[in-house]
Amino acid sequence: MQIPGFSTLEEVEKAFNVAIPEKEKERLQEVLEKHPMFIPDYYAGLIDWEDPEDPIKKIIFPSVGELDVAGSYDTSGEKENTVLTGLQHKYKETALLLVTNRCAGYCRHCFRKRLVGIPTNETLKLFDAAVEYIKEHPEITNVLISGGDPLVLPTDVIEYFLSELSKIPHLKFIRFGSRVPVFYPMRIYGDSKLLEVFSKYSTPERRVYLVTHFNHPKEVTEEARRAVDSLIRAGVPVSNQAVLLRGVNDDPEVLATLMKEITSAGVIPYYVFQCRPVKRVKTHFQVPLKEAYEIVEKAKQKLDGHAKRFKFIMSHRTGKIEIVGIIGNEIYLKYHQCKEPEKVGKLFKMLLTPNAGWLDDLKPVREEEGALV
Ligand code: SF4
Repeated sequence: MQIPGFSTLEEVEKAFNVAIPEKEKERLQEVLEKHPMFIPDYYAGLIDWEDPEDPIKKIIFPSVGELDVAGSYDTSGEKENTVLTGLQHKYKETALLLVTNRCAGYCRHCFRKRLVGIPTNETLKLFDAAVEYIKEHPEITNVLISGGDPLVLPTDVIEYFLSELSKIPHLKFIRFGSRVPVFYPMRIYGDSKLLEVFSKYSTPERRVYLVTHFNHPKEVTEEARRAVDSLIRAGVPVSNQAVLLRGVNDDPEVLATLMKEITSAGVIPYYVFQCRPVKRVKTHFQVPLKEAYEIVEKAKQKLDGHAKRFKFIMSHRTGKIEIVGIIGNEIYLKYHQCKEPEKVGKLFKMLLTPNAGWLDDLKPVREEEGALV
């Protein structure tokens, strides 16, 4: 489907009457040769182009910070969990399908930067082969359809996914990971066929969920609320995974407002992710763990229980690790989800240094705790 928007610097300059200095433009061009830009016109309208610190602009408009290549392109070990092209099976109960490399907009902090918007051989080639794999694995209780963004695909394709997956008796629920409610909400409330499809396949026996990605209260517009409302009315509960990002939501007030706004829209706060150490992302977007933990906890002090149902998580190669607390120079962590299920719920501590941003930056307090990771 065609989404109206901007994919070149010149288009942005013309549409919003901004002049990017020549030197900066050259460097941004260098960034765009590696990772394309796409800003849906609706989302571009949320940006105050006069404000160099605009948080929405930071999310979607390239920066010279992306020339810094510290970090990795596969921080969650997605390659090692790929069992079929485009199908990952990391946690016993969940199959993850990468059905497209396209999105409604390209987030500059994306942890799948290695594949979104550029040629890749990591996305699903044969959906039917994925269905066969899931059928042969009765331990899989749910499927996460992701990418890229599956909701940029035609509604007929989405219906095909749902119809085939719904035939698998051991699947208890199906999830879509999509930023379309944030980037282009009219694709949802403006497509009655899509809503009918969701309504048909989201049943009391096998619910369809949508996990979205609001990062800043400015994104919770009237249009985004309408998209969420349409999904809920079609029987699709919506939850949110935010990423803690420098310059976007690294402020307790902003983070708390985000949670209040999404909760008022009917979205369940699910995770706040520590920004992964992704190449061209880590250096300018990641907040050190100590500071990040304090921001999250201060935000929680401003929230009622409903708006703080999220967990603060490091989505690490070994599993999803909850950041439970900090005492002195020790950080307490817990496996919320793990490749090795016996580690789920295991509390462990590591030595914290002021600039540590990821599990791999931490030192074990004792050898046996270090052995956990
Ligand atoms: S919508 Fe999701 S997959 Fe697409 S660029 Fe943003 S974070 Fe990445």
